[in-house]
Amino acid sequence: MKNGLIVSKLKNGTVIDHIPAGRALAVLKVLGIKGNEGNRVALVMNVESKKMQRKDIVKIDGRSITEKEAQLITLIAPTATINIVKDYEVIEKRKLDIPEKVEGLLKCPNPSCITNNDIEAKSRFIKESKSPLILKCDYCETYITEEDVLRQILS
Ligand SMILES: [Zn+2]
Repeated sequence: MKNGLIVSKLKNGTVIDHIPAGRALAVLKVLGIKGNEGNRVALVMNVESKKMQRKDIVKIDGRSITEKEAQLITLIAPTATINIVKDYEVIEKRKLDIPEKVEGLLKCPNPSCITNNDIEAKSRFIKESKSPLILKCDYCETYITEEDVLRQILS
């Protein structure tokens, strides 16, 4: 194994690799993993990477990832790759791009935005820029950045 810290191979589960250094805890938060669910979780932070200077890795035993979770991970860890493991083999490698539209995942920071006042209205943000990440509320045109997204996830 490349990283000696991760001793055992996953039988079935998910490996999220190339997470920007320091973001692994936010990724766990997106997945709702607190550590008391019983899944074996390996968390590696600030290890050397060929592609990036430093990276984090999260390995979760017996857990897959939904599309919604994958989208949120992409917003806070755009370099991340998601590997699905089955019977000790990587059966799927997903490298997600930030979607053009992010629907129903984030809250608009503008209190008078319709999405905060009408329960029927689902939040919708349009990608304005990828790096740095800038999303625009499709209703009130309020901009949010990567830090805003991270703050929402961690709050
Ligand atoms: Zn808005």
